[in-house]
Amino acid sequence: MSSASIYKAAWVIPVDQPPIENGVVEVHGSVITAVRSAMPHEACHDLGDVALLPGLVNAHAHLEFSHVPQPFQPAQPFTDWIRTLVAYRRQFTPGSTEPYAALNIGAIEALTSGTTLLGEIATSGWSELFMPTHGPRVIAFRELIGMRPEGIDQQIEIAEEWLTYKSVLAPVTYGLSPHAPYSVAPELLCGSVELAKRFNAPVAMHLAETRGELEFLAHGRGEFVGMLKSFGAWPEGGLPLGRRPLDILRTLADAPRALVVHGNYLVDDEVDFIAARPQMSVVYCPRTHEFFGHDPHPWRQLLKKGANVALGTDGRGSNPDLSLWNELLFLRERFPDVAPSTLLELGTRFGARSLGCEHECGTITPGKRADLVAVSLGQATAHDDPLEELFAAGHKAVRTFCAGVLG
Ligand SMILES: [Zn+2]
Repeated sequence: MSSASIYKAAWVIPVDQPPIENGVVEVHGSVITAVRSAMPHEACHDLGDVALLPGLVNAHAHLEFSHVPQPFQPAQPFTDWIRTLVAYRRQFTPGSTEPYAALNIGAIEALTSGTTLLGEIATSGWSELFMPTHGPRVIAFRELIGMRPEGIDQQIEIAEEWLTYKSVLAPVTYGLSPHAPYSVAPELLCGSVELAKRFNAPVAMHLAETRGELEFLAHGRGEFVGMLKSFGAWPEGGLPLGRRPLDILRTLADAPRALVVHGNYLVDDEVDFIAARPQMSVVYCPRTHEFFGHDPHPWRQLLKKGANVALGTDGRGSNPDLSLWNELLFLRERFPDVAPSTLLELGTRFGARSLGCEHECGTITPGKRADLVAVSLGQATAHDDPLEELFAAGHKAVRTFCAGVLG
């Protein structure tokens, strides 16, 4: 049974058309049926002094770390941060449900901060059972790791089984995440992309994340070599040398959708390569980028060239929370010269496009799913532009609707 509701807000900001003062959004069941100005004395649910936006899209998270009270230390060198992360995982006894409870906690945290679509990296034991029934739609990318030839077939089997799942309890669909160039052999990357093509599934990969990764690809040396050897993961036959992120991008480009996670050190021809391929996106994780102290991120260059840029929180191992709204506030503060409308697009429709969901959500448009977030505006009316006002400090997501249901 579906029912009709009319939600009224001080501002409706559909993203695909100009903001509507004193606007309403009509919802029938899980679908938006109209976006318009309110009529006098119209019966409706008045959400009050809020801006009603499309639900936010967090294109990259690791919910398994949602119990972590603060980011892992040290942030540098990067391989020491990874070692802390691995030690965190290993503290749980096999069979313990504690790590999986974090998935649910993280999904709820994302939901309450306005996220209605989430790109999640799923490791062993991940299940839709831990996702809230009326929470964000989740694209669960199964993490694949393997540098040694003998482990690759097993990873491909895991990947194939993953892509055959059909969720029934929560809104989850499935993709693959060959982890990173320093943890995935070229054969495993190719095999993952082939599977993704067969199942029409998206692929997400950490890429161009650190300078150490560039050194590893080019020369087969640096901090990742020692780490792989200490984990018993170094391939005895060695690896092809003389590579760079562009070589990985060429393989990823064959996937139906490819999310280049981080992309901190993409250079000009790599930016051009992504910009020329609408199926590819870069996921910028602003506060994680800051945490690791990387060089300036090329996100504005990517946008200028026409590439699709989405935003992610990454996990709590490198970020204090899972709020995509807080990522937007962070960007507004750091980059006051970037138009607020652009920031909002990064967090909504560009995110939806990165995950292959641009026809279902990302804007408040009749026919799309009723994924909405109401952000408090308080009493401030200092700006004539509602988008300027929206990003004023202190504003928060106060209500989130996923497919028409208040989360
Ligand atoms: Zn990540």
